[in-house]
Amino acid sequence: MSFQSDGLGATSNEARTEQDLVPPHIGTVDGQPVVLNGIDLEYQKLFQLFGCDIDGTISRDDLFARLQDCGIWVNDPRLLKTVETLRALEANHRITFSQFKEICHQNSSLIKKAIQGNLIIPEFQEMVAVFQEMFTSVRKNTSGKVANYIPQLSRVNPEQFAVSICTVDGQRLSLGDAQVDFCLQSVSKPVNYCLALEEHGETHVHRHVGREPSGRGFNELTLNNDGLPHNPLINSGAIMCCSMIKPGLEPADRFDYVLNTWGRLTGGQRVSFNNPVYLSERRTADRNFALGYFMREKQAFPAGTDLIQSLEFYFQCCSIETSAEALAVAAASLASAGICPITGDRIFHARTVQNCLSLMSSCGMYDFSGEFAFSIGLPAKSGVSGALMVVVPGVMGIALWSPRLDALGNSVRGIEFCKQLVERYNFHNFDSLTLGENKKRDPRLKKNQTRIEGTVNLCWAASQGDISEIQKLASLGVDLDGADYDGRTALHLAASEGHDVVVKYLIERGVHLSPIDRWGGTPLTDARRGNHELVARLLEAALQKKELRMKNPSGG
Ligand code: GLU
Repeated sequence: MSFQSDGLGATSNEARTEQDLVPPHIGTVDGQPVVLNGIDLEYQKLFQLFGCDIDGTISRDDLFARLQDCGIWVNDPRLLKTVETLRALEANHRITFSQFKEICHQNSSLIKKAIQGNLIIPEFQEMVAVFQEMFTSVRKNTSGKVANYIPQLSRVNPEQFAVSICTVDGQRLSLGDAQVDFCLQSVSKPVNYCLALEEHGETHVHRHVGREPSGRGFNELTLNNDGLPHNPLINSGAIMCCSMIKPGLEPADRFDYVLNTWGRLTGGQRVSFNNPVYLSERRTADRNFALGYFMREKQAFPAGTDLIQSLEFYFQCCSIETSAEALAVAAASLASAGICPITGDRIFHARTVQNCLSLMSSCGMYDFSGEFAFSIGLPAKSGVSGALMVVVPGVMGIALWSPRLDALGNSVRGIEFCKQLVERYNFHNFDSLTLGENKKRDPRLKKNQTRIEGTVNLCWAASQGDISEIQKLASLGVDLDGADYDGRTALHLAASEGHDVVVKYLIERGVHLSPIDRWGGTPLTDARRGNHELVARLLEAALQKKELRMKNPSGG
């Protein structure tokens, strides 16, 4: 390759020559001499990540494959133009640097992040493998019963199971029946709450609906002490929110408005309406009518509310249909504070989403809400169709769908999947407090970042006796046996500085007890040399115990 730096290393004190005026970088691109500016150099670095120089070429399919590996789909609306350009090329077409620049230019930040491995889940294929494993294991669970309060729901094939994710960077994965439509039912409620908030603001909305878990059934005939529905995610509160969405519009326009919002949340994917579900919802809605009249009697509705219209609007919203694949993108729009990751469209204000997620965290899972907040620790909303929308704020949206429900009305497989999810990843709201005590992974970290930076940070923390930092690094997957350039491990450093708490912790975590550094030293010789008696005793005891175990592996 003929790229060269001009070698301008003149310091400011040196006399400037004519040569200083030569642009800093000259190279040849596609055989032609060119001047490379800063942006070109950035593109050059990207191009080189495909293992070739700027006068070389890369294959079209390599570029596609690189994007797909990161979870960026070819139908991603952000890549429309890029994909169009690439598709116009022959399959075996080689892309030159200039073409590459042109292609990337159409969506430089996404492509740059993807190629450099800087999307929110950098090792996406690792996550795919974990999700596939969880999917296969959860699918075996066939307990629970399909909702039967209306015939339309009871006729759904109970075997179906879908898992779909979309990250805040638009990385996607779909497993199982992810393209089959189901009705949203109560999963429509958080969005209606957001719409009411956007239109009227928090103060007005909460003059008509509370924000406490009810502790009662989702459709129970009960109101709070102020005569208001307990929260927007149970039936009474959802009917109340519906009454506040564009009350001045014609019913058809109100419904269009909600449907259009779902269309935007899902990044333009298919969202439709299931008329048979709507018709049977309406015919079996005595309880919802009763709730409506009860609230009207308590004067809970905003002035001028048309009760019957509000109820019908509510049944229509429950009858909106979409797929897990689309629902995951809607969940991701909430995870990214109201912006759809695959279109960049801002649908809700961040504050609206914050309020919505707060209530999903405390009230989204029927009478399992407290238990879900305790054990899963993520905002979620389920519906009687077996749909479950889960939000990992700042990371991803997850849609689960499996029609068999448990006694509390939540999808059996949906709940089990969530349990497995937070066993493996540090997604529980409060996982940051137990870093170091659990073996959960943080999928936001890059493997190399974890390894190299991790070892450097670990050795530093060990030398300083910073146990909480060490616990945090351990939870992030940093190898506790990692050694620095001199072959010194965290145990060496903690031992030579006399940090007994750290030494004890490392021993308990099962690190190698006698690693040898480049001078032949072990943690025990370090401890003795520094006269750290307690540390030396801890190491001796651990070594003895290990020896005994080796002599008598059965432990008898
Ligand atoms: N359409 C149902 C009802 O109002 C709501 C179902 C649900 O909670 O998902 O009874």
